[in-house]
Amino acid sequence: MIALIAIGVGTVWLYVPQAMQAAAIDAAHRSNIDVAEQIKITRGYYTQNVVAKATAAGTLNPTAIHAGDPNAIPLPATFVQDISNLLTQRATSLALVSPYPWPHRADRTMDDFQRRAWEIFRHDPDRIISATEVRNGQRVLRVAISDRMTNEACVACHNTDAYSPRHDWKIGDVRAVMEVKRVIEPYLAAADQRSQRIILGVAGTAFLVILLMTAIAMAVARSMRSKQEVDRHVVFLAHHDAMTGALNRSRFVSLLTDVIAQSKKAGVSADVALFYVDVDRFKEVNDRLGHAAGDQLIKAVVARLRERLRDDDMIGRVGGDEFVIARIRDVDAADAMALAEAIVADVAMPFALARHTLSVSASVGVRIGAGEVEDMMRAADVALYHAKSLGRSQAVLFSEDMQEELEARRHLEQTIRDTSRDCRFELHFQPLLSANDRRLHGFEALLRLPDGKGGYIPPVQFIRVAEEIGMIGTIGAWALGEACRAAARWPDHLTVAVNLSPLQFASRQGSDASIVDVVADALTRSGLAPHRLELEVTESVLLESSEVVIGELHALKSLGTTLVLDDFGTGYSSLSYLWKLPFDRLKIDQSFVAALREESRPSLQVVRTIMALSHALSMKVTAEGVETDEQASLLTELGCGQLQGYLFGRPSPEADLAGLVLADFQAGQAPVKPRRADRPGLTVSA
Ligand code: C2E
Ligand code: MG
Ligand code: MG
Repeated sequence: MIALIAIGVGTVWLYVPQAMQAAAIDAAHRSNIDVAEQIKITRGYYTQNVVAKATAAGTLNPTAIHAGDPNAIPLPATFVQDISNLLTQRATSLALVSPYPWPHRADRTMDDFQRRAWEIFRHDPDRIISATEVRNGQRVLRVAISDRMTNEACVACHNTDAYSPRHDWKIGDVRAVMEVKRVIEPYLAAADQRSQRIILGVAGTAFLVILLMTAIAMAVARSMRSKQEVDRHVVFLAHHDAMTGALNRSRFVSLLTDVIAQSKKAGVSADVALFYVDVDRFKEVNDRLGHAAGDQLIKAVVARLRERLRDDDMIGRVGGDEFVIARIRDVDAADAMALAEAIVADVAMPFALARHTLSVSASVGVRIGAGEVEDMMRAADVALYHAKSLGRSQAVLFSEDMQEELEARRHLEQTIRDTSRDCRFELHFQPLLSANDRRLHGFEALLRLPDGKGGYIPPVQFIRVAEEIGMIGTIGAWALGEACRAAARWPDHLTVAVNLSPLQFASRQGSDASIVDVVADALTRSGLAPHRLELEVTESVLLESSEVVIGELHALKSLGTTLVLDDFGTGYSSLSYLWKLPFDRLKIDQSFVAALREESRPSLQVVRTIMALSHALSMKVTAEGVETDEQASLLTELGCGQLQGYLFGRPSPEADLAGLVLADFQAGQAPVKPRRADRPGLTVSA
């Protein structure tokens, strides 16, 4: 396109000056002819109305030499020549020339141009002859037309005049060459200026067009580049953890799988060293110092790990504070353990963050081999747990004596997958009672994984594994659906509480639907009124992506559900977020309840403080793990509104709840007797 514009401008550049000059010459040419014609007319008039009359009257004498003679008037030819001479317009002049020997005109010899014109006019008197030439450094346009006998008066005069070279003139005879000469330099200069202006205008416009096109092209290129960047970014995000730039779990697994496969194909040692790194007590940092500090710490840990690693080592983030590292070349156990210990030592060095200097530690589990990557990660995780149980800040290499544990872990994963696929999970329900009157308020739904031998694998064992293998989204959604369906069958005043895993929030499980959609779906499908659904989350839900999680908590609340903060008091509860979050209820962790005895002042004090706090924040309080009358009485006295524990009923299948609901109904029919916590209200055995 730019080349086409350049060709266009070049053509204009070459053509316009020529065309403008030709036009200027043409205009001058026509103007010269005009002048000649006007002179002819003027002379005809003068001949007929002045010279002829004067001659007839005999009073005035027409002569070429009239100056100084009072009776002399100019001959018509002299007249026009004089007029022409009087015109001070130097640019245009008139010449009347002929080869006839006119008296007083002997000095007027014809030049080449005039002679050529004369020759032509003798045969072709209507022709117009023109030529340009340079005189005194100026271009001049010469235009010649034939000067003919135009009327009887002319003919009569010439035929009688003694000086006339001939006396046989007729009308139409060519008498002379009439030439109008014009200096055309100014016209051509003006044409040049005009063409320059045109060229400049065209070139300027072309320049602007090119500029505009270049700008558009650049903008298009930039937008394409930024689209490519966005695409690259999207691909990067699909493969990496956005915060640290480390690989995400699935990318880590697929890359490492490829590496091992390639090594095997190439016939070289395919052994890799896999390190499972966990930052000890990261939750504490998050809770105490806030998520911004937690994020900074994680970034700083990754930066420090990278410093320690080789370029071809791989690093992935597989949990909030969990990383996997793979060393893929020259692997042996001693080197691997040296690296693991170096990592432990690196992380143990203080971290200077924006507003805090922190000391944390890391535990590392190591697995060397060339097997399935997921299996190696599992083994490294088993080794990591050994490291943690040895008191943290340690590195442990997976060894054969952990094989049994690994097998158990593999088996558990398989059981979780199979149970989920076959919908064989169960929900048990544990009653929640109002502390004051011990009437049934609702039930908490607790997930049960059948072990195939008539018993159950406890949630503490399998929930974490389900989270790690990415199944908690599916299982949690199932639990929600089932719990809502069950509750919809209960009397309207009874609620159901469902536990949510932190991993169900902020779409942490990749393709899983958002928790808000899952809850809304469970409500819609079951027809359960939203106010009958209570959602229990633990503080760890706020470990990362707090903004997104807080948004989801608010969205859940606006569905009409009740939000419960479970296990309150465990971990390192940070009070700072309590007032920011839309929780309706706190559940005092059972560890406080277990320690609650009349004589145990510290635990009494803790519960009292929690009560005061929840009161200040307008939150209700449930105490879980109530096993004795004494605990129940104390908690009621302390102002705890709701109680849950084996004292009132163990978690049991839905089919077993009828008796409990009936007993509660009957208790409601009996005359109301305000209860103190002096005896249990309802009991059920699982
Ligand atoms: P949680 O939500 O704090 O549930 C209370 C746990 O305390 C239950 O354990 C319950 O059986 C137990 N419990 C209740 N009363 C007593 C008592 O008087 N004494 C003692 N010692 N224990 C009592 P469970 O059923 O083993 O569940 C453990 C944890 O597993 C739950 O703690 C909850 O965090 C999690 N969980 C259970 N079901 C689900 C679920 O559907 N989804 C998720 N994400 N987590 C679940
Ligand atoms: Mg709970
Ligand atoms: Mg709890």
